[in-house]
Amino acid sequence: MSLKTKKTSIRKKLICFVLAFVCAFSVIMPYYSPIASADETLEDLENQYKEIEDRIEKNEKELANVEKDIRTNEDKLEDLESQISDINDQIDLLDERMDVLNGDIDSLQESIDLTTSDINVINSQIAEIEAQIAETDALMDETREMLLLRIRESYMSGEASTLELLFSSGDISSFFARKELVTRVSEEDSLLIAELTAKVAQLDELQTQLETQKTELETKKTQLDSQMDTLNDRQSDLESSITTQQGKKSEATKKQDEVKYLLTELDKDSEAYKKTIARQRKEREALEAEIDEYIRQHGSTQGDTPDEEYNNDGDMLWPVAGETRLTATYPSYSDGSPHWGIDIVKSDGNTRGQPFRAAQGGEVIIAKNDGNWNSGFGNYCVVDHGDGTQTLYAHSDGLVVKEGQIVQKGQKLGAIGATGNVTGPHLHFEVRVKKADGSVSRVNPLNYVSKP
Ligand SMILES: [Zn+2]
Repeated sequence: MSLKTKKTSIRKKLICFVLAFVCAFSVIMPYYSPIASADETLEDLENQYKEIEDRIEKNEKELANVEKDIRTNEDKLEDLESQISDINDQIDLLDERMDVLNGDIDSLQESIDLTTSDINVINSQIAEIEAQIAETDALMDETREMLLLRIRESYMSGEASTLELLFSSGDISSFFARKELVTRVSEEDSLLIAELTAKVAQLDELQTQLETQKTELETKKTQLDSQMDTLNDRQSDLESSITTQQGKKSEATKKQDEVKYLLTELDKDSEAYKKTIARQRKEREALEAEIDEYIRQHGSTQGDTPDEEYNNDGDMLWPVAGETRLTATYPSYSDGSPHWGIDIVKSDGNTRGQPFRAAQGGEVIIAKNDGNWNSGFGNYCVVDHGDGTQTLYAHSDGLVVKEGQIVQKGQKLGAIGATGNVTGPHLHFEVRVKKADGSVSRVNPLNYVSKP
């Protein structure tokens, strides 16, 4: 290194130091008392960044866990719903069989009722006949008593026999008169007895017939009762099956309710995490804006002539050598959240530790190599190319450049890594442009660099 170059380098460093101090002071001005030291305040600001980013990281991890739980529980719920649907099918089938059986039971019960009513009719007929028989028997007994009494009277009055009548008759006419009377009485009695006897026989026969009918009906009823018993057994079997199925169903429904409740709770958790993340993303966006503000105040502007030392040839270089591919593009991730750059990995998968390089010559205006979260960028640096363009390189495992350092196009800036908010090692590359009106915009890097 020549003396002139060394002197220039020292002068540059001094300028950079002063510039850094002024920059830091102007950044913290809106937030901190002017009497606070610039170094302390910058450190506070960085700590603030880190704290917020740590909270975002923690919440995103918890959200991922909650979402995983939700998926697991949704699977469980689906499984339970299919179980319940199966059980419902079985219950429907059993209900159908039960309906058929109930129809059978109803018609059988009708038959039993009819038979029972027939038996009741027969029974009442039998009772009636029995009453008549009893009445006739009583009448016969009465008649017999009456005859016996009359014979006894005849005997005692000497009219016990025809002979007695003959001998006891004073004259023949009185004999004949008496005999005729006795005979008539006797004939009437005999007729009565014969009539009564015939009636008893008739009633007995009727009773026998009715008893036979009754026996037949009772046999029929016994058969029907036995059929009824069989049907009742089947019914109680079916009822117990239905009870079992309903038990299973209510168990499954209970589980389903539990899972649904759990899902509701998880959804609440998920909503809470999402809200927290959204709020913290807002905070991060504010911090991103502060970087823009830093560039606005201290970066080069479109139309500026780059320092000769930068050797800015106006044609940016792809920041990673060799075969590469993109895993995310500008201006948003696949989920729609903002992404102000492109994510580059090595095609062979061997990304971590590989070098990344300056897309253009310039001055390193920001270099954070503290291993902190740094708004999700991890270790990162910003190079100002002197013509209003600034490039940003994030998630490095380690930078090899410092703030204020002049770099050449293609010069190694650090190793690709996985610091900050990443799911795997990659280079996050951004291009920001400061326009003549002083506004800074984060533009699509693919309008400035193209993959070889
Ligand atoms: Zn990225």
